[in-house]
Amino acid sequence: MTAEQKLFIIFSDLIALEFRCKACGSSVRRPFDTWMQSPAMCSNCQTIWVSDGSEREKFLRSVVHTLKKLAESDEEAKYELRAEIQTRRTQEDGK
Ligand SMILES: [Zn+2]
Repeated sequence: MTAEQKLFIIFSDLIALEFRCKACGSSVRRPFDTWMQSPAMCSNCQTIWVSDGSEREKFLRSVVHTLKKLAESDEEAKYELRAEIQTRRTQEDGK
Protein backbone atom coordinates (compact mmCIF):
# COMPACT_ATOMS: atom_id res chain seq x y z
CA MET A 1 0.00 0.00 0.00
CA THR A 2 1.20 3.49 -0.77
CA ALA A 3 0.20 6.16 1.69
CA GLU A 4 0.46 9.86 1.13
CA GLN A 5 0.55 12.17 4.08
CA LYS A 6 -0.05 15.91 3.92
CA LEU A 7 1.39 18.23 6.50
CA PHE A 8 0.47 21.88 6.89
CA ILE A 9 1.85 24.77 8.89
CA ILE A 10 -0.54 27.51 9.91
CA PHE A 11 1.17 30.78 9.04
CA SER A 12 0.29 32.43 12.34
CA ASP A 13 2.06 29.56 14.14
CA LEU A 14 5.37 30.54 12.56
CA ILE A 15 7.31 32.37 15.27
CA ALA A 16 10.98 32.13 14.40
CA LEU A 17 13.54 31.08 11.84
CA GLU A 18 16.54 28.93 12.56
CA PHE A 19 19.85 29.44 10.78
CA ARG A 20 21.83 26.22 10.63
CA CYS A 21 25.46 26.36 9.52
CA LYS A 22 26.19 24.05 6.60
CA ALA A 23 29.84 23.95 7.60
CA CYS A 24 29.58 22.85 11.24
CA GLY A 25 25.90 22.18 11.99
CA SER A 26 25.65 24.84 14.68
CA SER A 27 22.39 26.79 14.71
CA VAL A 28 20.92 30.03 15.96
CA ARG A 29 17.25 30.98 16.32
CA ARG A 30 15.79 34.38 15.41
CA PRO A 31 12.24 35.08 16.69
CA PHE A 32 10.13 37.26 14.38
CA ASP A 33 8.97 39.59 17.16
CA THR A 34 12.52 40.74 17.94
CA TRP A 35 14.00 40.31 14.44
CA MET A 36 16.49 43.01 13.57
CA GLN A 37 18.72 41.32 11.02
CA SER A 38 20.06 37.94 10.03
CA PRO A 39 23.12 36.67 11.87
CA ALA A 40 26.16 37.70 9.84
CA MET A 41 28.21 34.63 10.63
CA CYS A 42 28.24 31.32 12.43
CA SER A 43 29.03 31.97 16.09
CA ASN A 44 30.75 28.58 16.28
CA CYS A 45 33.03 28.37 13.22
CA GLN A 46 32.85 32.01 12.01
CA THR A 47 31.74 31.05 8.48
CA ILE A 48 30.26 34.19 6.90
CA TRP A 49 26.52 33.65 6.35
CA VAL A 50 25.19 37.00 5.25
CA SER A 51 26.70 40.01 3.57
CA ASP A 52 24.65 43.12 4.26
CA GLY A 53 22.94 44.36 1.14
CA SER A 54 22.93 40.97 -0.56
CA GLU A 55 19.85 39.97 -2.54
CA ARG A 56 19.26 37.00 -0.24
CA GLU A 57 19.29 39.22 2.84
CA LYS A 58 16.81 41.59 1.15
CA PHE A 59 14.51 38.65 0.34
CA LEU A 60 14.78 37.32 3.88
CA ARG A 61 13.93 40.70 5.43
CA SER A 62 10.95 40.92 3.10
CA VAL A 63 9.77 37.42 4.06
CA VAL A 64 10.05 38.17 7.79
CA HIS A 65 8.21 41.48 7.34
CA THR A 66 5.47 39.73 5.35
CA LEU A 67 5.08 36.90 7.88
CA LYS A 68 4.78 39.41 10.74
CA LYS A 69 2.13 41.39 8.82
CA LEU A 70 0.20 38.21 8.02
CA ALA A 71 0.22 37.19 11.69
CA GLU A 72 -0.96 40.68 12.73
CA SER A 73 -3.89 40.54 10.31
CA ASP A 74 -4.83 36.96 11.17
CA GLU A 75 -7.68 37.91 13.54
CA GLU A 76 -9.61 39.79 10.86
CA ALA A 77 -9.13 37.16 8.14
CA LYS A 78 -12.09 34.91 7.32
CA TYR A 79 -9.83 32.01 6.44
CA GLU A 80 -6.89 30.18 7.94
CA LEU A 81 -3.74 30.42 5.87
CA ARG A 82 -1.75 27.20 5.84
CA ALA A 83 1.40 26.20 4.00
CA GLU A 84 1.71 22.63 2.81
CA ILE A 85 4.98 20.88 3.49
CA GLN A 86 6.31 18.40 0.99
CA THR A 87 6.57 14.94 2.46
CA ARG A 88 7.94 11.71 1.14
CA ARG A 89 5.64 8.86 0.27
CA THR A 90 5.98 5.85 2.51
CA GLN A 91 5.68 2.32 1.27
CA GLU A 92 3.90 0.01 3.66
CA ASP A 93 3.76 -3.73 3.32
CA GLY A 94 0.68 -5.78 4.09
CA LYS A 95 -2.92 -5.79 2.99
ZN1 LIG B 1 29.52 26.98 11.61
